Amino acid sequence: MKEFSNETRAKNLQAMQNEELDLLVIGGGITGSGITLDAQSRGIQTGLVEMRDFASGTSSRSTKLVHGGLRYLAQFALKEVHEVGSERAIVYNNAPQITTPLKMMLPFYAGGTYGPFTTSVGLDVYDRLAQVKKSERKIMLEPNETIDREPYVKAEGLLGSGVYVEYRTDDARLTLEVAKKASELGALIANYTKVTGLLYDENHKVCGVKFVDVQSGETGEIHAKKVVNSCGPWVDEIRDMDGSNKGKHLHLTKGVHLVIDNAKFPISNSLFFDTPFHDGRMMFAIPREGKTYIGTTDTTWEEDPKEPNITVADVTYILAAANQMFELPQKLTPDDVESGWSGVRPLIQEEGKSPSEISRKDEIFQSDTGLLSIAGGKLTGYRKMAEKIVDRVGEQLAAETDYTFEGQQTEHLLLSGGDVGGDEGWSSYFDKMVHEGIVNYDLEREDAEKLVQRYGSNVADIYELLPDGEEKDGLPRVDWAMLNYGLKAEMVEHPIDYLLRRSSQMLFNINHMNEVKDAVIDYMADYYNWDEATKKSMTDEVNTKLALTDLHEIKDAYAAHEA
Ligand SMILES: Cc1cc2nc3c(=O)[nH]c(=O)nc-3n(C[C@H](O)[C@H](O)[C@H](O)COP(=O)(O)OP(=O)(O)OC[C@H]3O[C@@H](n4cnc5c(N)ncnc54)[C@H](O)[C@@H]3O)c2cc1C
Repeated sequence: MKEFSNETRAKNLQAMQNEELDLLVIGGGITGSGITLDAQSRGIQTGLVEMRDFASGTSSRSTKLVHGGLRYLAQFALKEVHEVGSERAIVYNNAPQITTPLKMMLPFYAGGTYGPFTTSVGLDVYDRLAQVKKSERKIMLEPNETIDREPYVKAEGLLGSGVYVEYRTDDARLTLEVAKKASELGALIANYTKVTGLLYDENHKVCGVKFVDVQSGETGEIHAKKVVNSCGPWVDEIRDMDGSNKGKHLHLTKGVHLVIDNAKFPISNSLFFDTPFHDGRMMFAIPREGKTYIGTTDTTWEEDPKEPNITVADVTYILAAANQMFELPQKLTPDDVESGWSGVRPLIQEEGKSPSEISRKDEIFQSDTGLLSIAGGKLTGYRKMAEKIVDRVGEQLAAETDYTFEGQQTEHLLLSGGDVGGDEGWSSYFDKMVHEGIVNYDLEREDAEKLVQRYGSNVADIYELLPDGEEKDGLPRVDWAMLNYGLKAEMVEHPIDYLLRRSSQMLFNINHMNEVKDAVIDYMADYYNWDEATKKSMTDEVNTKLALTDLHEIKDAYAAHEA
């Protein structure tokens, strides 16, 4: 097992203070993790600090798609469609365990944004630009074929649909697998480490950071030849510290997703559809693990980006769209919402544009002090974003030090857990490891499948951890093994890291999560020897998060509104 634990974290923090790094990356979302992997794989000694957990910002709150961005096509941003679209195949090949191809249906209606012709031509252009494999190219369906395939799609006014392929991912785990791979290659990585200030040399060039270890409260300094700010919605906070938050700046928009049991929202394809409100917005409805999630909203957010809320307006908007778009056995109400999430997009402000129109393009800013900041973009394009900024860092290091510039090494670099024989070998690897789980470890098929799907080639480590008997320390044996793997190999520091981001139970298996959460907290309290106050604050953190998606008040307000 490749260690990536609390001890690794402590050692890394110490090492980062002892030596001058070539590069320090601030922010452990997908952007910062991708930059760290890219730089480290080119021989640039890199450190990464994240103030909370990996992917706790926007990178665990997306629509969870590795997708080519049909939206870019609507904006005629052809270069972006080509770049991001082509990246899908690369991400899939390097981590097939967390990227699952999905049929995406785009239904069109009389009077809607898209008709049969525009959809067909648009998807053709998309297939070409995104270099989609032949077997995954679009097909067009007549209205009756659309209904045959997805019986609950609204029939009235339906003119047909286009079906194409996108990839569903687990955004938090994708981020983590990138960080774990970077760690394997020698990057020094620590979560719960917050940058509180920047350090400058005598020429007023940035040469490191001040930080606080959020776990212990201790402070320190890290010195580095180059510093990259990849703090997503917090990019401007770091630019403020640097005194360089001028010109273009971030515009944050909030996006909410809701999770509903698939029995109540029974779709089998993913769908991408116009909202029925003629507001130019589109929504996704995506089946996953026996649930369907639907979103998203897009509204300007001007408060703290840490925990954006879910409001009555958000829930009403999403449910109204679902109820008008689908003819479900029963209309959906907030009572059907099991969980949800809310995140903010770190978009780059362009004057005079509405949130939906602002480009999702990424941009790099370099300040006079040498601080490099990167914002915008998408989860899907993380590898290309990393390449662009590390090219810049590499060129600067080559000019200023004895470093010899090397191009990106990540195109064929398997992520942690991705050593499964590529996209072609994945299916037989999956069958083999599921079989092994059932035969050698006495697992139920469903559990073995979930484990192989979640951990890919790291699943053998989880199998080895499985205890005998049905449960241990009050935890079902599968949870016990996953939690212990998280503690030893996935830097789980807080219970919420495991419950929400490592296992996704808080989103897609909330009933089970409610059953195991106390045992998880107890186990971790023993494991880390927490005092009562620490244990309480860890418990509060879980409960506060749960309260955010407890739609209690929303349900009342919704009922009043409907009445
Ligand atoms: C609703 C929604 C849906 C989306 N859907 C998709 C999708 O389906 N597909 C897709 O490709 N993209 C999607 N995106 C876009 C994608 O999620 C983002 O582009 C991406 O996650 C941004 O990652 P990031 O690393 O830049 O930011 P973040 O993930 O927010 O990471 C920044 C990190 O910096 C840390 N940080 C901040 N300040 C400090 C500090 N002082 N010290 C240390 N660390 C600090 C934060 O804690 C945070 O973890 C979506 C976005 C949203 C909001």
